[in-house]
Amino acid sequence: ALTIGIVGLPNVGKSTLFNALTRAQVLAANYPFATIEPNVGVVPLPDPRLETLAELFGSERILPATVSFVDIAGIVKGASEGEGLGNKFLANIREADAICQVTRVFADPDVVHVSGAVNPKDDIEIIATELILADLQTLEKAIPRLEKEVRAKKADPGLLAAAQEAFAILETGQTLAQSGKKIEHLDELQLMTSKPFIYVFNTDDAGLADTAMQDELRALVAPADAIFLDAKFESELVELEPDEAREMLADNGQEEAGLDQLARVGFHTLGLQSYLTAGPKESRAWTIHRGWTAPQAAGVIHTDFQKGFIKAEVISFDDLVAAGSVAAARAAGKARIEGKDYVMADGDVVEFRFNV
Ligand code: GDP
Repeated sequence: ALTIGIVGLPNVGKSTLFNALTRAQVLAANYPFATIEPNVGVVPLPDPRLETLAELFGSERILPATVSFVDIAGIVKGASEGEGLGNKFLANIREADAICQVTRVFADPDVVHVSGAVNPKDDIEIIATELILADLQTLEKAIPRLEKEVRAKKADPGLLAAAQEAFAILETGQTLAQSGKKIEHLDELQLMTSKPFIYVFNTDDAGLADTAMQDELRALVAPADAIFLDAKFESELVELEPDEAREMLADNGQEEAGLDQLARVGFHTLGLQSYLTAGPKESRAWTIHRGWTAPQAAGVIHTDFQKGFIKAEVISFDDLVAAGSVAAARAAGKARIEGKDYVMADGDVVEFRFNV
């Protein structure tokens, strides 16, 4: 599964956030095949559509899509020179598909800040600089090697061009994600700053109410997503029963828990979407990549579904709810029969037909 690596300076609240994520972890009983790893938090993607489907179909259980977060130990200034956690740390980041940087905004005098003062802008720059330096080092080794290989016709010249273009951008002090440049073959270079970023600003009550400050930080990290949450509050929230949690959120003037927001933004940042299946046994969300076709989507349920794919009966969630049942949706002409070229839309409720 695709994963999001959590990084940040020491003492910004990463462990607090990660512990909250693992407390929210999908019940292992629901996912008998899921192994629980100590540094991975697999959290449910909140999807109210599943509850509606479960009611409509009388489903025994609900299986939401999930998002996986990996706790990567704290980055320290100088990490790219082996001063901090060095290579193991960088290797962990390389394995992640997106990066979530936790940044401190809360002003608690009892919690020491590594650089002496709370300054989210500096924190963001410190981490960006370390990752840029590490990518430059990678490219300094890769470019001469690629030059040789291209001369020997053993490597694609496009790959070398991508490496050179990436190097030039990084030298200006920008991350590749920030630069917004679409470079062909970039993914093959496995650079860290080309991964999508999400910024979590760990905020206290004052910060959660300070929309001017939030707008400023949002603008600073755009086009990356910014999430403002109180990690300590979130860790208390996950200990409560759902009803109590909703009440506490409402008391706090929040519509949605920060962790739910993070799961949603994370899922989207990874380029994922879900489609739905429903029946008396379960209502379930299945995770696919945006742009996948019906047979690819069927393959997530079972590889045989993809190999033997014939067609899919697709009803969009809203149409199904409006009609009230599959039979009524069919009668209203809202059930579409789609073939192997159909590109899945978010919230499609699907039944696959296949040969075995
Ligand atoms: P890490 O080093 O980034 O993993 O940071 P921790 O999660 O260990 O947090 C460092 C300290 O800050 C701990 O004492 C936490 O209790 C505290 N802390 C974390 N999040 C918050 C927060 O939102 N508000 C306040 N006041 N303290 C926090």
